[in-house]
Amino acid sequence: MVNTSIRTTKSQEIFAAAQKLMPGGVSSPVRAFKSVGGQPIVFDRVNGAYIWDVDGNKYIDYVGTWGPAICGHAHPEVISALHTALDKGTSFGAPCVLENILAEMVIDAVPSVEMVRFVNSGTEACMAVLRLMRAFTNREKVIKFEGCYHGHADMFLVKAGSGVATLGLPDSPGVPKATTASTLTAPFNDLEAVKDLFQQNPGEIAGIILEPIVGNAGFITPDAGFLEGLRELTHEYGALLVFDEVMTGFRIAYGGAQAKFGITPDLTTLGKVIGGGLPVGAYGGRREIMSMIAPAGPVYQAGTLSGNPLAMTAGIKTLELLSKPGTYEYLEQITKQLADGLLKICADTGHAACGGHISAMFGLFFTSGPVHNYEDAKKADTAKFGRFHRGMLEHGIYLAPSQFEAGFTSLAHTKEDIEQTLAAAQDVLSTL
Ligand SMILES: *Cc1c(COP(=O)(O)O)cnc(C)c1O
Repeated sequence: MVNTSIRTTKSQEIFAAAQKLMPGGVSSPVRAFKSVGGQPIVFDRVNGAYIWDVDGNKYIDYVGTWGPAICGHAHPEVISALHTALDKGTSFGAPCVLENILAEMVIDAVPSVEMVRFVNSGTEACMAVLRLMRAFTNREKVIKFEGCYHGHADMFLVKAGSGVATLGLPDSPGVPKATTASTLTAPFNDLEAVKDLFQQNPGEIAGIILEPIVGNAGFITPDAGFLEGLRELTHEYGALLVFDEVMTGFRIAYGGAQAKFGITPDLTTLGKVIGGGLPVGAYGGRREIMSMIAPAGPVYQAGTLSGNPLAMTAGIKTLELLSKPGTYEYLEQITKQLADGLLKICADTGHAACGGHISAMFGLFFTSGPVHNYEDAKKADTAKFGRFHRGMLEHGIYLAPSQFEAGFTSLAHTKEDIEQTLAAAQDVLSTL
């Protein structure tokens, strides 16, 4: 049964009030639905693969709080572990054994990580890793890729593709030119462009940071040989390779994209899944590099709430659930069913589309593709995506409110949920 006309009166009231209280009515921009049009729905509660809005509508969720909910929202074992932890207090600001446990789990799972430092967000992890890259190499410049997102710190706010970006000018007012002058950009999947940057800036490039699978420009996978090529180039030029696995860590495989592709970077940033829905980030890598972090070494980085016992608990329980046999096989199976199904429906209904999936991450672009980089992604029909998004929402399916975001599945999504989603997509796409 599909529900084609939802009532969202309360959502609208609450969001109208929110807009007077907070910029854009939200605590983070994409939530405001600006790029798909219409009003965001206001959540009341989440459970498993589902969310309920304040008007009582239920949706199948493919955002999963932007990644953390890979075991399903409010997993009973995570919630129960949190209750137990809560009774011992909410913050210590001192060492606790939970940090050791999660650190060991991360080190065992992620090939590049020999030591880890916990922080409170992916943004913080990327800021810290950049400082560390520069300190270790004693070089200032860094290469990032167009369309990759590494949090909102000044030096990463360089959008590439446009002439502005090529000149290293900042994307946002308030970011000093000097801060982004050392941020060089290249198109994703373009090894030649990276090689040129190394040749034009001899002895000056500290390293490369990238999403090994891009999820913040839609879903874009690395071409065969791209990650290998970056590994070779960084070795050749004495620079560091950093995988930002804030999104892909423990999602693409238990060991992240680096385990999936068999390429080991020098440093890795993590977030989202490792916090199990609480605010956590982390960065880690080779012992020799990580030993430079204070107080072991001179590179300063700190945090009042870092290693928070509740966040560590949710992370530990989430990784425990993920480490059980068969989890990634299941995620692969249902995500394939969804991604293949969507592409087939697009073909049947005459909509140019391309996309795909790896493990519990998927994407669909309204362009015939192929999409190898952000320039290709920008050819997608965003107006059509907006109408698709609205139609799916009215059918009880909650997709990320932007063409340029990957979608996420979870262990809680069933075959029936996917079937219901595909039935909704069939309905919506045949009338678009
Ligand atoms: C989400 C994300 C970040 C930023 O993490 P926050 O916790 O939102 O600060 C950084 N890098 C990537 C790849 C991300 O997906």
